[in-house]
Amino acid sequence: MSNMAQVEENLALVENYKEGLFRPEDEIALNKVRAFFLSRIKADCSGCGYCLPCPAGVDIPKNLLMFNQYFLFEGQDAKDLSHKLYHIEVATEKMAKNCLNCGECLERCPQSLAIPDFLAQTADLFQTLES
Ligand code: SF4
Ligand code: SF4
Repeated sequence: MSNMAQVEENLALVENYKEGLFRPEDEIALNKVRAFFLSRIKADCSGCGYCLPCPAGVDIPKNLLMFNQYFLFEGQDAKDLSHKLYHIEVATEKMAKNCLNCGECLERCPQSLAIPDFLAQTADLFQTLES
């Protein structure tokens, strides 16, 4: 499994975690993992996709996943890798830079995330490697 796939799997596990599914000791461990993830990431996106479709074609959950991943790992090598992965894994027409700030996604997000604001930050963060 690739590093990216592992990150996606871990984030899904943490985001979809439900109380009562695990033994008490497992819940304690999972709560620690969840707290760690939440302390690092910027957008608490579950990847549910309810915000889609976006009229501008932005893949909102994918962009937010990549945005969070950038902050998940420390060290310049990890940051550089995040930049590269963004441009490999997100098609140009689905990138955050295409957001029109129309606001249609806002009312659909069960997490009440400020999606256009996060996408603007995502576009700024990853624009340095534009081809
Ligand atoms: S605000 Fe941006 S991401 Fe949200 S629906 Fe409009 S164009 Fe798409
Ligand atoms: S609806 Fe909200 S939580 Fe779900 S994928 Fe979209 S931004 Fe993330």
